[in-house]
Amino acid sequence: MAKKSPWHSVKQSVHHNNTSCNTGNNIEKENLRDGTGGKPLCAECARLA
Ligand SMILES: [Zn+2]
Repeated sequence: MAKKSPWHSVKQSVHHNNTSCNTGNNIEKENLRDGTGGKPLCAECARLA
């Protein structure tokens, strides 16, 4: 599992940093943003890390 720079969805209250995260991978392109957005890390990414 690869770590990459954080990204988030404008529709979610968390950010992602793990390419194995299903929630992070399912973000639609129009909602995808670079960076954490000042949001906490998603629980699935935290578990995968
Ligand atoms: Zn995640």
